[in-house]
Amino acid sequence: MRAQLDTVAIAQTYPAHQLIQPIPRSTAAPVPHDSRDGALSQQKDWQATLIADYTRTVARQAGRMRLRLAHEVLALTGHAIREQAIAIDMGARRASMVVDGVMFLLRGESLRIVRPCAWCGTGQFESAPIIGQSDLRDAFAGWQPFHPECEPADPPDDASW
Ligand SMILES: [Zn+2]
Repeated sequence: MRAQLDTVAIAQTYPAHQLIQPIPRSTAAPVPHDSRDGALSQQKDWQATLIADYTRTVARQAGRMRLRLAHEVLALTGHAIREQAIAIDMGARRASMVVDGVMFLLRGESLRIVRPCAWCGTGQFESAPIIGQSDLRDAFAGWQPFHPECEPADPPDDASW
């Protein structure tokens, strides 16, 4: 109790911006390039900078996708997810994982489940976007995807009259 009070007191006495020290800027001058291969070195520098920046950005985006998928699956299923269990396809902006045999997919901004054909058991079909429990219920229990050639040919008996 005492520790909590102290923490509150400190936070009130010193606003956050006063507790954070500014990072000192480097005062070292850039190393001049040799005049003969200066252009080449500079070209390599900007290319290396772009690659490093791209790599960082992709890693950040992948981390965000993992976190978002893990949070949404936890909220919907109560299943805590190890982020390492999530597969990422950055080219397609997809993050996916399997929970108790059900594949959850985050594509762009929307969460879906992926199911095989209800007739032949192969293929991958994406459900409508899942926002809440009722969407998950409908996608899991009330939706049966089929390949066009696997679609039941005969209309159900109860639809014939
Ligand atoms: Zn099929």
